[in-house]
Amino acid sequence: MWRHHELRPSYDVVIIGAGVHGLAAAYCLGREHGLRKIALVDKNYLGAGASGRNTAILRSNYRTLEGIPFYDASLKLYERLSLELEWNLLFSQCGHLTLAHSDSSVTGLRVRAENNQLLGVNSRMIDVPEIGELVPTMNRSRDARYPILAALYHPPGGIIRHDAVVWGYARACDRMGVEIHPYTEVTGITVEKGRATRVLTNRGEISAGSILNTTAGWSSTISKMAGIALPIVTHPLQACVTEPLKPFLNVVIVSATLHVYISQTDKGELVIGAEIDPYQSYCMKGTLPTLEQMATYTLELFPQLHGIRILRQWAGICDMTPDFAPIIGVSPEVSNFYMDVGWGTYGFKAAPISGKCMAELIATGKPPKLIEPFSPTRFGSGNLLGEKAAAAVSH
Ligand SMILES: Cc1cc2nc3c(=O)[nH]c(=O)nc-3n(C[C@H](O)[C@H](O)[C@H](O)COP(=O)(O)OP(=O)(O)OC[C@H]3O[C@@H](n4cnc5c(N)ncnc54)[C@H](O)[C@@H]3O)c2cc1C
Repeated sequence: MWRHHELRPSYDVVIIGAGVHGLAAAYCLGREHGLRKIALVDKNYLGAGASGRNTAILRSNYRTLEGIPFYDASLKLYERLSLELEWNLLFSQCGHLTLAHSDSSVTGLRVRAENNQLLGVNSRMIDVPEIGELVPTMNRSRDARYPILAALYHPPGGIIRHDAVVWGYARACDRMGVEIHPYTEVTGITVEKGRATRVLTNRGEISAGSILNTTAGWSSTISKMAGIALPIVTHPLQACVTEPLKPFLNVVIVSATLHVYISQTDKGELVIGAEIDPYQSYCMKGTLPTLEQMATYTLELFPQLHGIRILRQWAGICDMTPDFAPIIGVSPEVSNFYMDVGWGTYGFKAAPISGKCMAELIATGKPPKLIEPFSPTRFGSGNLLGEKAAAAVSH
């Protein structure tokens, strides 16, 4: 899939973090801008970060006028990525349903539906009978603790195979001559006269024309090496998977009120996720209270699942920003230090478009319009984006 290389003394671009964002950026730098002297370094195996731990939901029914076109462009790139990478990514556009259990969440989802439609995204409010047609097995009783009142239905949303995306990009990068260096930990960055000149690793020093930070949950630690403070805090996010069941759920279900989301894989397992753990940590271990929470809330929606067994539980770490939107752009302090971070609990779906935009920025020096609102300078100028309502639980 990809070859082993000795580290060379210098590269045009060094990308730190070989998750889906680092890989997508390397792929686009090679494919669209002809750059080849690129090193992707990762302290671990490929996909060891959130890219190999997420619940693989893709959608574009965001809330803000900046977020919606960005995520929609990504979804459209995902639709043809299997063909482009010649690798079946098992993308199933089964639809995505966000439940409302209160009048205020009905209002919030209605705003999203209207914004989505205004920007050409297929998304609309549906009532309880139509929800019943889509998911007849879900508890729609008026006597439930949190009865379902309506839902935001987004037919093009769905699930993909996350490992396949990582491996598909990695194989394509390798075929172009981009070097992938797993088990290469960055331990320091030298900055001279406002430029990052060298990357220090456990396998030696590299000089770099440009450096791109794509380390998600670890991104503030890498930026700090270059003297840059990021408004990012890292929280664990957990998920679990059940034993396989006969197919009964052909749509992704999300409930922000119940802090839970559920989908069924092609193998029949239920993938169940939660909101972020309420404390900051770099620990990637599952905990019993979160498992109990995921089980309890799943049973509110599907009481008939009370006897099923959990196969696995795990955690990844997420780089949370104050406005639940990413930070994409070049550092105002270090002129050749680029960032594609702040992906929180929702970054997997964004990789194709952020990789494309990041590559264009690095290769041409000009930020594409689509990423301008996500600039790192927005925190200084007070231009924060309000994406929390569409990004907190509905990954
Ligand atoms: C449980 C869970 C569920 C999620 N569900 C979804 C979902 O359904 N849909 C969605 O869109 N998103 C989801 N996400 C979020 C998504 O997975 C992430 O936003 C995305 O994968 C981030 O990708 P990345 O490439 O930026 O970072 P990562 O995949 O985390 O990669 C960062 C890499 O940096 C490396 N690194 C760190 N420090 C160093 C160093 N010092 N030197 C070298 N390398 C280093 C790490 O080893 C790691 O491989 C979920 C996340 C989790 C944890």
